[in-house]
Amino acid sequence: MRDDEIYKLFQQKNVQEVLDILQEEAAEVIQAVSKIRRFGWNNKHPEADQNNLEHLEEELGDMQAMIEILMEMGVASWGNVTVAKRAKIEKLKKWSNIFKDPEGPRTAEGKTLLEMVRGRDKKD
Ligand SMILES: [Mg+2]
Repeated sequence: MRDDEIYKLFQQKNVQEVLDILQEEAAEVIQAVSKIRRFGWNNKHPEADQNNLEHLEEELGDMQAMIEILMEMGVASWGNVTVAKRAKIEKLKKWSNIFKDPEGPRTAEGKTLLEMVRGRDKKD
């Protein structure tokens, strides 16, 4: 395939729309993380139905949908994205503290962060 043909495919309206929405969703994830860091996981805007954690989950799902659509369309490669994801995890294992406690934070009673925020008991 010639370069101008590839360029035309990437210029298609639906591809541009997916990129625009992916960009918006990435910004919404950033905003949701910012709300958690400023006001806490359990905080809720007076006019919102969700707390900040539930809002982050919604935005992560929105962004994941756009990433998957991009791959389904054949614009981004599942294989390349998977290779990049695995490489990122390996770098984080080496250069971050994220995997030092693979189960994540727990209370003295063994509850996870999600269980604390949602007030659920730990499931066995
Ligand atoms: Mg969204």
